Amino acid sequence: MNDPEAIVEPLRADPGRAAILCDVDGTLAPIVDDPAAAAVPARTRALLAMLAERYRLVACITGRRASAARRIVGLDQLTYAGNHGLELLRPGEVEPTLDPALGHRGSAAAGFVARLDWDRLASAGLRLEDKGPIQAIHWRGAADEAAAEQRARALADLAAEEGLVPHFGRLVLELRPVAEVHKGVATRRLITTTGVAGALFGGDDHTDRDAFAALRELEREGGVDTAVCVAIASPEAPPQLQREADLVVEGPEGFFDLLGRL
Ligand SMILES: [Mg+2]
Repeated sequence: MNDPEAIVEPLRADPGRAAILCDVDGTLAPIVDDPAAAAVPARTRALLAMLAERYRLVACITGRRASAARRIVGLDQLTYAGNHGLELLRPGEVEPTLDPALGHRGSAAAGFVARLDWDRLASAGLRLEDKGPIQAIHWRGAADEAAAEQRARALADLAAEEGLVPHFGRLVLELRPVAEVHKGVATRRLITTTGVAGALFGGDDHTDRDAFAALRELEREGGVDTAVCVAIASPEAPPQLQREADLVVEGPEGFFDLLGRL
């Protein structure tokens, strides 16, 4: 395996021109059965607070809402790109700003779900999660999950007719306002707007591969001199993520140790 000390050295040598970017669930916060109970350990929080004083940018990029990510991490002084980058919550800000490229599309998904019959959908086991510009429909725990998924697929078709972009995950349908919503877009925007010369990204899931790809592309283009992609290994982690990484660490514990080297 590659030597972590040597790999992070360019970042550590010039923290004022470096960014530390990471996912939250499964990367900073251990995976728990109830996503609402996710929390970042106190020692990780303390370490991130120290890094935020030295590094040009310390940011979390997550599929959760930006405000939820900040609550889980527990630090106001970091930057949070929520909803895969559609929302940006900067240090000290109370409200996240929506990606300006969204324009009036920011409320398109909320407008769509507001017109649905939620009494009927709820009796079929579907429930709504309001994520602002993204609306998520879950059916985990439905009495008949297959039937509930059929309902969700019908809703996805309807939403697509209205110009929304349906995205299926595990027992969840996300209705997105635009197609280009992923962590790669968020990563590129954060790096180009802060003008750092090097960046590290840590993540544990498929969605984090887009951030890896964005970092690699920036490095090829000369947008950054140093790109460090870190895969957080777990039994559920996709094998591609590890193949594409410069470093593989064992779970949030391993990522904590790596942050300690920075
Ligand atoms: Mg994750």
